[in-house]
Amino acid sequence: MRAVILEKPGEPEVLAVKEVSDPEVGGSEVLIRVKAIGVNRIDIWVRSGVYKVELPRIIGVDAAGVVEKVGREAEQLGISPGDRVVVDPALYDDVCSYCASGFTSLCENHKLLGFNTTGTYAELLKIPARNVYRIPENLSFEEAAAIPVNFLTSWHALFYRGRVKAGDYVLVVGGGSGVGYAATQLAKLAGATVITTVGDEWKIEKAREVGADYVINRRKEDVVQKVMEYTDGKGVDLVFEHAGRAVWSYVLNVVKPGGSMVFCGATTGDAAEVNIRHLYRRQINLIGSYGWNRDAMHKVINLFKQKRLKTVIDSVMKLEEAPEAHRRMENSRHFGKIILTP
Ligand SMILES: [Zn+2]
Repeated sequence: MRAVILEKPGEPEVLAVKEVSDPEVGGSEVLIRVKAIGVNRIDIWVRSGVYKVELPRIIGVDAAGVVEKVGREAEQLGISPGDRVVVDPALYDDVCSYCASGFTSLCENHKLLGFNTTGTYAELLKIPARNVYRIPENLSFEEAAAIPVNFLTSWHALFYRGRVKAGDYVLVVGGGSGVGYAATQLAKLAGATVITTVGDEWKIEKAREVGADYVINRRKEDVVQKVMEYTDGKGVDLVFEHAGRAVWSYVLNVVKPGGSMVFCGATTGDAAEVNIRHLYRRQINLIGSYGWNRDAMHKVINLFKQKRLKTVIDSVMKLEEAPEAHRRMENSRHFGKIILTP
């Protein structure tokens, strides 16, 4: 099969398509003929060496495709060749104490495709049958491949960790990113009023289209001032944050007393300075969030089936164009999901 194998970290050009042997499946695994691959920030961090992974490795986290082969034990799970499926890219051992309590994102043997096991930038993908979900008929492979990392990360951060509720004011940082536009939709489904930020004028209308009530151009406007204006000087109940250092320098100032910030990324840097006194006097909750639990995919897929969520596809490129796809994301020229097709 053809696949993008990372041999050493570097610039986007290191993402060359090569011929490798097909994966063998057995037991409780299935083999998927990949039809669409979602590009994520984590792919860039692995490619560039920010995240150290064992090399050589096929990178990539998100994928959707058609089941081609089914291991004998996998047959009992009702998965058949020809099924259109999307994968949950997180693998769990299902036996540790975290898994037992349902908090599988903390699994002691947690693995993510393309990060600590073989990834999705390939024609074929081998994965446990428990990790595949049928794609609703109303979704294309490209739309399905746009779901997992973005919507599951946002779901877990907003609902499981952040406890968003009807009537809340929520600031979604980076409304043009994959997790950002997903978080906007999910917070709206919860009944919240959503304020979001974008870095380009043309992204304002796009952010409104996915449901944001207020959109701030962070390059032109003062985010803190605008958020306070939109909340009658009170601040928001919840901030959904994934941009890291550059945003932490000011964003805690818009959380209302007793409010929370849930954070699940650090794109602009890991180390931030916070005003401790400001945080404890205002009794603000800082809530870390990572990945998602096993039950999240089922819930998210059902919402897509009911047409209550929608993906936004920025662009579809060939697997050979992976370098260009990475550059597009690194330069924030996209809104929504960049998709590769093998
Ligand atoms: Zn576990």
